[in-house]
Amino acid sequence: MYVERMVYPVFVLGVGTRIGIWMQGCPHHCHACINPELWDQKEKNNVDVHKILNSINSICIGNEVDGFTITGGEPFYQIEQLYRLLKGLRAFNKEILVYTGYTIHDIHNMDKGYQLLELIDVLIDGKYEEEQNVSGLALRGSENQKIYYRDSAIESRYVEYLNQGRKLQHFYDRKYMLSIGIHDRSE
Ligand code: SF4
Repeated sequence: MYVERMVYPVFVLGVGTRIGIWMQGCPHHCHACINPELWDQKEKNNVDVHKILNSINSICIGNEVDGFTITGGEPFYQIEQLYRLLKGLRAFNKEILVYTGYTIHDIHNMDKGYQLLELIDVLIDGKYEEEQNVSGLALRGSENQKIYYRDSAIESRYVEYLNQGRKLQHFYDRKYMLSIGIHDRSE
């Protein structure tokens, strides 16, 4: 599975304290995408799903983890690997949020589409549309994107979070700065 980065703790891409997983490879090429470095898959980032799950297990031991956020890139571009990852993540009994540039209708038409959706608690669908990027729109880059919840209990957990608007987190090391979350338009 091509994974460009895994980050903990993430507070800005779903309720609570989360592990974020950025999958690499995206066919959508949305205008003004914030992550163009995730469009092409690089062999050095090809990691076995078991290794990813082992790393997640290590983080979960002794740390607060409320959920997982899978983004990219396009997670459904690696549909088999995504299925294996989601199956493994379900064993942790935590909430799973997945971003996709496909619509939920597209996913229904994919092999294993319904099976994948059964493993997801919160799905945010649709390509990024720069002209529909509305400042303050929580969790979504543009208004065309929709949020689907597995059930009303999960949806109710998101009400207050969404009311708080957009959030960003910045991570620094000596060489670069990583900014995650939903950004306003650059202009
Ligand atoms: S789907 Fe996401 S990662 Fe892919 S081009 Fe669009 S904004 Fe970028």
